Amino acid sequence: SDENITMTLPVMESFYTIQGEGFHQGRAAYFIRLGGCDVGCVWCDVKESWEENRHPRISIDHIVSEALRESGTESLLAEVNMAIGIPPIAVVTGGEPMMHDCRSLSRALQNSGFRTHLETSGAYPLTGEWDWICYSPKKFKEPLSTVAIKAHELKVIIFNKSDFEWAEKHALTVGEHCKLFLQPEWSRSETVTPMIIEYIKKNPRWEFSLQLHKYIHVP
Ligand code: SF4
Repeated sequence: SDENITMTLPVMESFYTIQGEGFHQGRAAYFIRLGGCDVGCVWCDVKESWEENRHPRISIDHIVSEALRESGTESLLAEVNMAIGIPPIAVVTGGEPMMHDCRSLSRALQNSGFRTHLETSGAYPLTGEWDWICYSPKKFKEPLSTVAIKAHELKVIIFNKSDFEWAEKHALTVGEHCKLFLQPEWSRSETVTPMIIEYIKKNPRWEFSLQLHKYIHVP
């Protein structure tokens, strides 16, 4: 549409890869990383994303046509996959993508055949149409309960022991079918991974989320 030609969003990077984390770990996915974040996690591994103005503003039309091209979604094989119920996945991440109005982007992706997945800290109200919401609250900026209740997966990053209690507090704010994941903070992985394993053995409604992409060296 005309709107999608003129409407732009700051894009830090986009790439077709393997989803490394959480419920959809291991699946092919096209990532769109939007610039802008004021959550301020001390251990953030994408600090380059924080400053929105450092990233080029790209039209929705262009973002989506790149997604189609890069992920091979325009191909005949993709049509076959779609027909047998394996639609391509587009993950909108950041930064904090909900600092932007994502209605046009999510709708354009869905109209092009993508399943839309969102990764958010929950610090801002939801905008857009999402087939899957990965909610990963952070201590550095209070999340909104309106986001928590819509989450399909809750992913809590474990940096130290006190984070388990914090994770349980947030598990009370999500819906009953929400998947629960604990993920070691990358730089603390050696210390916290054994703690997470023990915790999950005692509290089996939680599952382990590994940053698989960092082990197989893909973005
Ligand atoms: Fe980094 Fe994400 Fe935290 Fe923002 S919410 S500071 S992008 S880890």
